[in-house]
Amino acid sequence: MPMTFDSPLSQYIIFVIISGILSVLLAIYAFNNKSNFSGMRALMWSTLLSAVYTFGFAFELASDTVPEIKFWINIEYIGMPFIAPINLLLIMHYVGMDKFTTGKKAWGLFVVPAITFLMVVTNDYHGLFYESLYLRSNSASPVVDVVPGLWYYVHGSYTSGTMFACLFLLFSHGRKTKSIYRKQMVTMALSILIPLAGALSYVLGLTPLGIDPVPMLLGITSALYVYAIFSAGLLTVSPIAREHIFESMRDGVLVLNLSNQIMDFNSAAAQIIPSLTPLAIGKKLEDVWKRGAESGAFSFGLDQEHDVQHEQELKWVRGKETFYYRIRASNLLKPNGQLAGRTIVMIDVTEHTLLQHKLRHLAEIDGLTSIYNRTTFMEKSRELLNASHRQRQPLSFILFDVDHFKQINDRYGHSVGDFALQHIVNICKQGLPTKALLGRYGGEEFAVCLPETELAEAGQIAERLRKEIASTPMYSSAKAISITASFGLTQARTPDVLLEMLLREADVALYRSKHGGRNMVTMMDLEQVHAIETK
Ligand code: GH3
Ligand code: MG
Ligand code: MG
Repeated sequence: MPMTFDSPLSQYIIFVIISGILSVLLAIYAFNNKSNFSGMRALMWSTLLSAVYTFGFAFELASDTVPEIKFWINIEYIGMPFIAPINLLLIMHYVGMDKFTTGKKAWGLFVVPAITFLMVVTNDYHGLFYESLYLRSNSASPVVDVVPGLWYYVHGSYTSGTMFACLFLLFSHGRKTKSIYRKQMVTMALSILIPLAGALSYVLGLTPLGIDPVPMLLGITSALYVYAIFSAGLLTVSPIAREHIFESMRDGVLVLNLSNQIMDFNSAAAQIIPSLTPLAIGKKLEDVWKRGAESGAFSFGLDQEHDVQHEQELKWVRGKETFYYRIRASNLLKPNGQLAGRTIVMIDVTEHTLLQHKLRHLAEIDGLTSIYNRTTFMEKSRELLNASHRQRQPLSFILFDVDHFKQINDRYGHSVGDFALQHIVNICKQGLPTKALLGRYGGEEFAVCLPETELAEAGQIAERLRKEIASTPMYSSAKAISITASFGLTQARTPDVLLEMLLREADVALYRSKHGGRNMVTMMDLEQVHAIETK
């Protein structure tokens, strides 16, 4: 081999060999660390195949006969066609598309490279990869030139297409990724762009000696990959895990900067707020989230005070469904304590809230008649009584009890009795003013609290109810059953009168109605108790 070490070609060979050695070292490194990152096996193969290609190329350059050169080209193609698809797998791992990189799907990427390899080793029989291969005539050193065949272009397009796919994945992932990982993204993109640029300058005839620079660049490429993966120990499992947790959270999370612009969000947030698309990044939260928030203006101004947490509940009607969210905003601080922005966590509490509503309903409402039970009636009446004292407004109570109800039960059965109670409540609901509070006070005893109502007016209301009940029979099995009720009334006169006292007074009046012959209204007066005969 007529070659000295100061000739440009031999210097080039040295660089290529160094690049190959670097790739081997990185392959060993990747092998030793293969448990750190799920894409490490891909990285190991990528560097190993780069080394095969690079060493093959070094030997090709050092060869001076066409058969020798052809032999080393065959060796190069054991590695070269497979590097780009393996790098694609590596990047798919990196961007979290692991589920596409396992099993049979991944092998599909290697079909074209495998055919390329077969085409190269059998080229003498068909010339589909290169039509001819000859030693460059006017070159001082033995360099080959090829006339490409059909499959050469297939291989070239596939390889560059794969590399563009890598870049596409990196950039589309980079858009949504946190800036601390962007350095790795850029490094990885460089390790694709550098050989791409090398290949392009070779095709355009811009490289020194007209030699393919890619094998020499592959060492740098491998080093960049490893740097990206190990720099600051970031691209081990934790950022992927963090991203995974962020994305798989059931709670929606938004990250805002100091000017309330959206910096990041997870897919749960995008499900809650449909206008949160990747295009929303950089926009103000108010502009993206205008509608839907029904109760409580959604506003979380940035707080200058550190560590302030805001929480608010949000009712949100979307279509026919109602959702409830607990929204928690907290300040994001830089390590030096400076305010950097906010995170907003949206927790779906719909199930919890609906259950709470149901429980409250069960605790407050009487199951048979769907009006307030005694406890709730007392509670709400107490509030009305206090308010009437404060506002110096009158307030009256009506207590009524169904007459001879036992007989209805005995004669027609308990379920007809139940139905009678519902029947009476329906009459009351229609006959009572809207401000009236109606409650089931006991078995077949009901109470009405009438705010802003003088006793006389309450008397008229009670009288109307009495007449309505008495004149509206209930129908059971086509039989008309007449029902009557007896009423007792009182009014809150002194400002400090207790609710229990008032109800006792009403009860005394009711007792008088019963004794007076039932189906009548009695009003309790402090001076005198006078029964009104209404029959
Ligand atoms: P009066 O009040 O006119 O003196 O006679 P009454 O027959 O209504 O007497 P009392 O108040 O003693 O009887 C009330 C009856 O109401 C007793 C109880 O079995 C019945 N009762 C109480 N709660 C219910 C209920 O939810 N459904 C039915 N069907 N009956 C009930
Ligand atoms: Mg009764
Ligand atoms: Mg009773």
